[in-house]
Amino acid sequence: MFEKILIANRGEIALRVARACRELGVRSVAVYSVADRDSAVVRLADEAVCIGPPDARQSYLNAAAIIEAARKTGAEAVHPGYGFLSEDADFAEICADNGLVFIGPRPEVMVALGDKSKARALMSDAGLPLPPGSMETLGTVAQARAVAEEIGYPVIIKCAAGGGGRGMTVVLSAEDLASAYDRTRIVGQAAFGDDRVYVERYLSPARHVEVQVLCDGYGNGVHLGTRDCSVQRRHQKLIEEGPAPALSGVTLDAIAETALRGALRAGYTGVGTFEFLVDEAERFQFIEINCRIQVEHPVTEMITGVDLVHEQLHIAGGVPLRLRQEDVRLQGVAIECRVNTEDPDRNFMPTPGRLTRFIPPNGPGTRTDTHGYPGYLVGPYYDSLLAKVVVWAPDRDLALGRMERALHEFEVDGPGVHTTIPFIRRVLDDAGFRKGRYSTGLVDRLLGVPD
Ligand code: ADP
Repeated sequence: MFEKILIANRGEIALRVARACRELGVRSVAVYSVADRDSAVVRLADEAVCIGPPDARQSYLNAAAIIEAARKTGAEAVHPGYGFLSEDADFAEICADNGLVFIGPRPEVMVALGDKSKARALMSDAGLPLPPGSMETLGTVAQARAVAEEIGYPVIIKCAAGGGGRGMTVVLSAEDLASAYDRTRIVGQAAFGDDRVYVERYLSPARHVEVQVLCDGYGNGVHLGTRDCSVQRRHQKLIEEGPAPALSGVTLDAIAETALRGALRAGYTGVGTFEFLVDEAERFQFIEINCRIQVEHPVTEMITGVDLVHEQLHIAGGVPLRLRQEDVRLQGVAIECRVNTEDPDRNFMPTPGRLTRFIPPNGPGTRTDTHGYPGYLVGPYYDSLLAKVVVWAPDRDLALGRMERALHEFEVDGPGVHTTIPFIRRVLDDAGFRKGRYSTGLVDRLLGVPD
């Protein structure tokens, strides 16, 4: 195991990793931008190094500054969290060149899987079912049109380098294809520096069901069950739960085993997530792999009792997987709600400001991962996730009741600060959601967004 780890991230996930380090007796180094100098992780990590101004490009995305902080503090490994540099194969490579262990899959695996189009081709070879579509990126709009004609509308044009719900355009009919193709490429270039796109069939209604996998560097792997993340706004998740509800055990097992087969085939190491869409007939199709710890990882931790960050550190330290598949027992139901500082009544606009009151929920089966505290200044620079409220209960009805109770307890106040809690409550009250029968269209239906 490592003696010292640098945490190349901020917010709740930086705190989550710092906690895991302390629990394992590993020293932690926090890095922070000037805007985050009062953040909790700066106080709670063993050391903290300022790596630049608020602009993420000059701090949390600044590989040189992060490597320099690691060198100065004598860290042996870098935990990238999620977002920022977590899926950047070049950064993983730079870490290795500087004698640092990047806590994630090998760079060449990240290259192969981080490109969504290449991942599709690789997983197709591994025998995973996929939505019909192109097997490589497209060179011209004519090619896109030919694929769309072949598979039939609606289709979705996706950036190969896309992520975070950006760089995807749904195309309902042939007349919209050319403009959608151009638009998606422009977004790809602007947001990801890569304008390559591919086309696949748009599945609707569909549920987003994903599988947590854990693999070591010695060919061993396990899956840790499913999570349903269909409650999404603009392809971004708001609520996640596990196991995915209202699907047969046979389907859940098949999805999980399929994901693990894909992970082993790809030579995956560390924690990873295989995402699928599932239709009403419970047919599932692979869409992408996330090569990092995910925001929603606590859902899996609550139903398996496995600490994914601990496992991640052990695997990166070269320890063979400590779990066999038969050791993984799924128990009960966990639900996570993301509480963002956004105003649901004003199109989910971010609402930065100082928290004058901040009392996160507590009590039986309740876990709140947050970097917030009374007096904390929510800045305008980074994403607006303030807290993840996660509950566990023996069954889904009680988990729902517990989540309502937890949100009822949660007090967040500050001049100008709003949260997504009122909107989350609307979702929790929805009859379809309560029954566990919902799809990725649920939020748009509640918001009255036309199909
Ligand atoms: P990102 O990498 O940006 O998260 P994903 O490929 O994981 O993008 O897709 C995010 C969401 O977009 C999915 O959960 C789903 O709601 C929607 N989506 C993606 N591909 C399809 C598809 N082929 N059909 C229907 N919805 C899709």
